[in-house]
Amino acid sequence: KQKQYEKLKEMPAVTRDGVEITLQINAGLLVDMPNIEATAASGIGLFRTELQFMVAQHMPTTGEQQALYAAVMEAAQGKPVTFRTLDIGGDKVLPYMERVEEENPALGWRAIRIGLDKPRLLRAQLRALLRAGAGRDMKIMLPMVATVDEFQRARTIVAREQAMLAKQGHAPPRTLQLGVMVEVPSLLFELAEIAREADFLSIGTNDLMQFLFAADRENKRVADRFDPLSVAALRALRSIVEAASETGCPVTVCGEMGGKAIETMALIGLGYRSFSMSAASIGPVKAMLRSLDAGKLRERLDWMLATPEVVASLRPQLSAFATEF
Ligand code: PEP
Ligand code: MG
Repeated sequence: KQKQYEKLKEMPAVTRDGVEITLQINAGLLVDMPNIEATAASGIGLFRTELQFMVAQHMPTTGEQQALYAAVMEAAQGKPVTFRTLDIGGDKVLPYMERVEEENPALGWRAIRIGLDKPRLLRAQLRALLRAGAGRDMKIMLPMVATVDEFQRARTIVAREQAMLAKQGHAPPRTLQLGVMVEVPSLLFELAEIAREADFLSIGTNDLMQFLFAADRENKRVADRFDPLSVAALRALRSIVEAASETGCPVTVCGEMGGKAIETMALIGLGYRSFSMSAASIGPVKAMLRSLDAGKLRERLDWMLATPEVVASLRPQLSAFATEF
């Protein structure tokens, strides 16, 4: 099996009917970076910056953050890296930070909410990112954004840091794209607006499914109760890719749904063309998509979603489709 994937590494990620798919990997530490080379991925679609904070004994200084981001971009050798700003709070607690007791941490004061309310940490991180990205093409994305207004407020903070660095004479990134994680379902009802405002969308299916179905992703009793291959979930996911393509806004799936063979197949059928996944998934996913007829799947999936049987999941039908080719 491993040998087989090794051979696939040099082959393009193109479906049997000629649809090109972008495959990137998720990362969070410098040790993950050799995986780009090992998988021939086209970049890092999700760099989880909180990892550095979680493994540290103290709050990483702006200089330490900047050093990591610069080293990561250096290691990527010109391939794109999408840095996600700190996604802490909730279950991701930092040992050296004051802990806030919350009844429902997943629904609590976390990620961009902390960034907007107490922007000191977010601003320091943005400075570190912008400095590390001097002269490069930078991509930054914001986690747990629930409304377009939150995105705009965060963008104002980014612009302020850019202006400050310029005033201090720091070289800016060559280009800066500011994107948003789509992982809170309220954004699904502001899709046209967020797709117009953000430079790109990245779907966090782990949290999106958790919140869509109100099923704690950490609670084994309910985590697998609802299938992302159900009618409701697939329609939700289709609405995002449709809004993105109508506005010409690039969209990537970075949650763990991309990375599983049948799930990724279904996402391609919905119209997704870009994924970021764990390095180990690249081989199996590439093997799947190279044998896939995306056009035929699209027709089948459109039909399944237009005239759905009342079933908990379309997985059996999709698995049956997968064995047809
Ligand atoms: C997600 O929610 O799907 C995601 C990619 O982010 P995380 O797993 O870090 O919450
Ligand atoms: Mg998430």
